Amino acid sequence: MTTIHLIMRTIFTFAFLLLLVNGLMAQVFENKDLAITQLEKDMWVIETTDMTTMYLIEGTEKALLIDTGTKCEDLEKVLRQITQKPLYVVLTHLHGDHAGNINYFGEIYLHPADTLLMSHLQKPYEGKITFVDEGDVFDLGGKQIVVSHMPGHTPGSIVLLDWQAGNCYTGDAFGSGQVWCQLWPFSPMASYAASCSKMLNIMDQGISRIYCGHYPYVKTTFDKSYVKDMLELAKLIDLGTPPVPQPHPAIIPGIGAKNPMMSTLGQATIVYDPSHINSNQITQ
Ligand SMILES: [Zn+2]
Repeated sequence: MTTIHLIMRTIFTFAFLLLLVNGLMAQVFENKDLAITQLEKDMWVIETTDMTTMYLIEGTEKALLIDTGTKCEDLEKVLRQITQKPLYVVLTHLHGDHAGNINYFGEIYLHPADTLLMSHLQKPYEGKITFVDEGDVFDLGGKQIVVSHMPGHTPGSIVLLDWQAGNCYTGDAFGSGQVWCQLWPFSPMASYAASCSKMLNIMDQGISRIYCGHYPYVKTTFDKSYVKDMLELAKLIDLGTPPVPQPHPAIIPGIGAKNPMMSTLGQATIVYDPSHINSNQITQ
């Protein structure tokens, strides 16, 4: 083969791969509230116009929706344009920007440690709540999604592991570049550091991509180096020696600290409450 043939073949192969990737990442639906994009085979990201995120995973028998976003009219009907399969609806945690549309669904799955937060939702939930915990499995047919408990952002934060794809869906458990800790009902910083260690251990066993809970801000996945930075930073805050601490400009009404602080190390930023570094499940 001549050099020119080799160059041409390389160009065509590259162009084909580019088409393949773009094909998988095609936007498949859009309305006034949200856009749906296929990111991988049998996996879609749903991004709302106010920057919240859901993920939809489909197996051969069932589908699973991770979180329910904010204001999305007729969300259940919108999802039916992507999949007709019976749907599990799993919440990574019970904050309003991840649980905003739960009343479209008759049953939701969440960790029991977050039920305290139910009182902070805008509307009470009228369906069935089924609790999940460490090691529970959603069998979608040819694809199993496993629950792992990662307290810190909230006491009942969970992540969802797709070992076959090497993916982890984390909600806000490790933030989307910046994680809020010590919101009410508080988890100690040490328990967040323990979750970071646990996540690193999981990533050592074959999980390589973290899909975070606010995908529109990052438009990519995080890898192990991000969690490593989070772990080091959480340890320093727990020891009372955060790098360059400074006031955080935003306050979260109802559940946020009155004077939140933030600290950054590498890719990680943690927002924390200096008066609740070691607090645990204090009632408001
Ligand atoms: Zn949250």
